[in-house]
Parts: sequence; structure tokens; C-alpha cells
Amino acid sequence: MSLPFLPFTRPSIDEDTIVEVANVLRSGWITSGPKVQAFEAALSALCGGRAVKAFNSGTGTLEIALRLAGIGPGDEVITTPLTWVATANVILEVGATPVLVDIDPATRNIDLNRVEAAVTARTKAIIPVDLAGLPVDRDRLYAIAAAHKLRVIEDAAQSFGANWRGKAIGCCGDFVSFSFHANKNLTTGEGGALVLPADIDPALCERYRLQGVRRFPDGGMDVDVLGGKFNLTDVAAAIGLGQLKQLAAFTARRRALAQHYFAQLNSTLGLELPPADFTQSNWHMFQPLLPKGTDRSVFVATMKERGIGVGVHYPPLHLFSLYRKQGFQPGQFPHAEDVGARTVTLPLFPAMQDSDVDRVCAALSAVLLSK
Ligand SMILES: *Cc1c(COP(=O)(O)O)cnc(C)c1O
Repeated sequence: MSLPFLPFTRPSIDEDTIVEVANVLRSGWITSGPKVQAFEAALSALCGGRAVKAFNSGTGTLEIALRLAGIGPGDEVITTPLTWVATANVILEVGATPVLVDIDPATRNIDLNRVEAAVTARTKAIIPVDLAGLPVDRDRLYAIAAAHKLRVIEDAAQSFGANWRGKAIGCCGDFVSFSFHANKNLTTGEGGALVLPADIDPALCERYRLQGVRRFPDGGMDVDVLGGKFNLTDVAAAIGLGQLKQLAAFTARRRALAQHYFAQLNSTLGLELPPADFTQSNWHMFQPLLPKGTDRSVFVATMKERGIGVGVHYPPLHLFSLYRKQGFQPGQFPHAEDVGARTVTLPLFPAMQDSDVDRVCAALSAVLLSK
């Protein structure tokens, strides 16, 4: 009897959450309403009482953070080439210029030692990304931002539930953007949330979120900024509220599974493992680098034949056609290119058993030693 296919990730939605979603569907109010308000309040409590606005994606949160920071044509924004392309697309979306800085191969996050050399008179902001849930060094980051008067928009899409020196990501800093896409550690199906700094009016954020509309007590309305359509539904917020109850357990389970990988992986396979951080990272993904010279597409296909899903996160974005047209070239960011070429995402999600990890490790040994 063959084992069921093991995907690289799968959301955990419990029966209580399903009941709550059904209750919303029966309530007659299914778009933004009381569940979104309750979700925002719960998120705010997790973020040290800061203002948090729920969005329908973690791309929308990044775009609106850039707009709230006043970033547009002529401005430069520094970010990493090794991220989901949304991080850089939003910079183009607001008419600004993405400036990429290579990663630190040890963390695979933006190399903060290289950031200052990329700052020009036009630089307005930096978008760090906590890849795979491993937090960027917040002390260094904010020291650099302060020295150059840069805004920071933390792309914490992958680090919800992680912490920096014991403080939850979202509690501190400038803008913090979360995604609740189906593959993220906490999901609403699609969704996101933006934590606002104290100098940003939450009411202005709400207007950008929904068509720029400002409503008056007498029933009238005005539109004074060009907003978009970024509001979360109550259906999605009900999923998020159910997920929040399990967040601590999800994170603990992910850390334990990652630790089990470290204990079980055959150290002679030549895999390069990510940093062994079991206290700050939320282990959004478990990503070894394949030995140099391994054909990744063959590896992925062979693992699939053995019933194991393997993802690739991510090809470095400067090699995409759109970014080549912006002038980026192969060879510009060698560390991001090396990691991007060799990275694989192995199964890791809260409902996995230790025996699933053992199964992945056995398949890795068989596949990598037989080539
Ligand atoms: C998922 C993700 C996003 C975008 O979030 P969506 O909710 O899919 O729009 C942005 N940045 C990073 C690093 C992500 O992983």
C-alpha cells in the first residue's frame, strides 16, 4: 500500500473554524463587517496594541504602505532579489524604482552590509523580507534606516508568528505587512494585514483600502485620494479568527518538525541547511540547498514519483523578463542566483507527523545517493 501524497504545504483548518465560516454565510453579512473588526482587534493585540488594518492580500498591504509613505515616481526603494515577486512588483506599481541588493548567503535575507552602498539621494525606503520566516536583523535594519532617514516597510508575509529578540514581528518598527495567503503560516484563504506606524492616520489607510471614500455622519460622502479595492471579507476574517487560536501551536509544531529534519537528515548528502534558529523563526518553509551540480528539475520529479511534493521559492526576481527590461542582468547578485538555483522547499506544515519527516529524509537519501 503506497502512502498518500505529501505536499510541501497544506493549511490546517479546524472544524470550529468551519462552523464559524458557516455562521457568517448564514448571517446575511458576508463582506467587510464585524468579523473583520474583530480580526483587526485580535491582530492589534498580537502587535502590541498598534493600529492594524486587514486587507484582501499581502500585495495590497505593501502597495498601500508605499502610498501611505508617499513613495512614487522618482523615488528608489531598496529590496532583495530573493523573494516572491510581489515585493518588487508593488514598487513598480506605485511608479517608483526598485533597487536590489544581494543576499547574505548565511541567512538568505538581504545583506544589510551592502544596503548602505545602495542608498542614493533618491532612496526613500527599504523593504526587507523575512525569507522562510527567518527575521532580518531588526537592530541593524533600523540603525541603517535612521542614519539615512529611510522608511521601512517590513515584508513580513512569511514571518507572522516569528519574533526578533522575543518581540513578535509586528510589535515594533515602521510599517509591517503580513500575508494570509493559503500557503502562509496563518491563512484566510487570501488576505493580509498592515501594521501602521504612529505617524500614519489609520482613517487614511482605510480610504486607500476602499476607493478613497470618506463617509460623513449625515450619510454623505467624499473621495479625496485614489484608493483601490483591498478590503477583506467577513468570510475570510472568520477563517483568520479561527486560525489565530491555533497560531502558537502552529509555530511550535513547525519548529519541532524543523528540528526533527535537522536530526534526521543524512549529513553526507551534501545539502546546505538553513540557519538552525528554533526560537525566532516561525519555519514558514524548510529549504535546504541541493548539492552543486544536482539537476533540480529531475530531483523534484523523482521526489514526486516517491509521493513527496517539493517547491521552489524562489527564482531570483531580477532574472524575470520584466526586471531584465528594467536593466537587471544575470551575474549581478551572485548569492541570490546561487541560492535561487539550488533551493528546494521540503514538506513542512503543522499537521505533519514526525514519521512524514522521516519519510522525506529517506527519500532524499535514496534520490541523492543514487544519482
Ligand atoms: C506571499 C507573499 C507576498 C504576497 O502576499 P499575497 O497575500 O499573496 O498577496 C509578498 N511577499 C512575500 C515575501 C510573500 O511570501
